[in-house]
Amino acid sequence: MSRQTYLDYLKDRFVITADGMLTDFISRRDGRLLLADQVDLSALAVRYGVPLEISYCPLITTQVERMHDWFEGARQRTGFAGAFLYAYATKANFAEEVVRTALDAGAHYETSAAADVVIAHYLWRQNILPSDRYIFCNGSKEDTYINAIIALREAGNVQVVPILDDLQELETFLSRCKTPLLFGVRERHAAEQVNPSHPGGERFGLTPEEIETVVSRLAGTPHRLIVYHAMVGSQIEDSDSWMERLTDSATAYCNLRQRVPSLQAFNFGGGMPTSAYELDFQFDYGDFLERLQRQLMSVCAAYAVPVPDIIGEFGRYTVATHSVYLLEVGTVKEGQNGTTPWYLINGSLMVSLPDSLIVEGQRFITLPLDRWDAPVGEARLAGRRTCDSDDIFPRPSEPPLMLPEDGAGLVLAIFGVGAYQQMISGRGGAHHCLNPEMRRIIIERDDDALVIREIAPQSVTAIMGLLGYEQEQLEPVAARPALIPQLVPVRRRNAPSPLRRRAGVLQRSRWSSVKDTRMGRT
Ligand SMILES: *Cc1c(COP(=O)(O)O)cnc(C)c1O
Repeated sequence: MSRQTYLDYLKDRFVITADGMLTDFISRRDGRLLLADQVDLSALAVRYGVPLEISYCPLITTQVERMHDWFEGARQRTGFAGAFLYAYATKANFAEEVVRTALDAGAHYETSAAADVVIAHYLWRQNILPSDRYIFCNGSKEDTYINAIIALREAGNVQVVPILDDLQELETFLSRCKTPLLFGVRERHAAEQVNPSHPGGERFGLTPEEIETVVSRLAGTPHRLIVYHAMVGSQIEDSDSWMERLTDSATAYCNLRQRVPSLQAFNFGGGMPTSAYELDFQFDYGDFLERLQRQLMSVCAAYAVPVPDIIGEFGRYTVATHSVYLLEVGTVKEGQNGTTPWYLINGSLMVSLPDSLIVEGQRFITLPLDRWDAPVGEARLAGRRTCDSDDIFPRPSEPPLMLPEDGAGLVLAIFGVGAYQQMISGRGGAHHCLNPEMRRIIIERDDDALVIREIAPQSVTAIMGLLGYEQEQLEPVAARPALIPQLVPVRRRNAPSPLRRRAGVLQRSRWSSVKDTRMGRT
């Protein structure tokens, strides 16, 4: 009997077909893997070489638009009267093109730190962040964060909303800011309500008594309390338990709303799950939003208060899918005594996928670009560019990957890396074992054309400079593939576009259409 092929394994395990959509953002057509049913990953691998990081910004737009559609679909079923505000939680990925794309798609802004507010302030001055967008400022706020918020407000931005995390913050705002401010309060969940196996989230926010203090301290000031914030976790795939926790928060909102008529929005925070990590991911977004709307409507009716606007802060959901790594298996080392072989990657997993170390049970969809007809076998990945025993994926407690048995030279696409990985790893920094950052291409939509920008791999000189060494010109010349295959479909435009015009503003970025890039590369 012939051995099971990789494709047969996938078909059995995930109920997919050889050709067509594998998830809502990965497809396979004519034996080629596509991102967003658009970007031919094999073509990019040949064109730019591997390792390669690909960021396809139009997927960010798609994510924002889909969520709005689900909300409106739910509204048609419920008759919910409040507005829906989609905020991008920028800490998931601060890259300029990412934030700009989310804002272009209509997102509001959610900050986590002082520098984040400084960026928002800059984008607002540039009119990339329009004046009618809210800027929700979360997290515990030290002086620099508070001062950055006040500076933005005093510069004339009326939509910045600090979400109070403790009473000390409130006192600092009250003593320093005489200009009227909009405030939110973040609910402090009971430890067992957040996630007992992951206690870090319990520290955020204010107890009911502290919220009472906020209400009385704000009375008689020019400031107004408008947002009730009730975040419970991240990547929450169990709608039932999420709804259960939000129901308690909805009741708390209504209680407060009875006494604080300025209160107008219920913010469920982050936690919206993404399809980025599992081929068999399932979450009914429309159903979740419908239940949330119905729940708010019924609790508000019981308390005789108007329904609030609903705010969601979407980090992971907005950006996880838009980036993918292409990594090559440089060599294979057999496991000892017949155990699972090690596929040694020309790169580092712990540097490029830090969540594989930090988040228990974190998975990333890992698919080979070809050899789908080869026999399938177990494999574990290990980073070749560190000699750290922790540089492996999946974790030892997790089952191995299933991949084509013939590993050497295989190029693997690791999907769903657009949220948190680059930020936690420290984009642009000196990394573990000096693993250099890979070549990066950024694809953005410009009306009906796609524009590609290429960022060179991190150089040894740059790494030495970061570490304080005198910079000598020791660069090994990076080899580059000569083949020029068909890329993503592109239509040429003649008129200078806003995106290309803006390229002048974005210093140090070299912009060019695909055609131009190709011509510049022989
Ligand atoms: C991190 C964070 C988010 C984003 O969370 P995701 O799960 O990535 O969507 C939203 N709101 C707040 C307050 C956060 O701290």
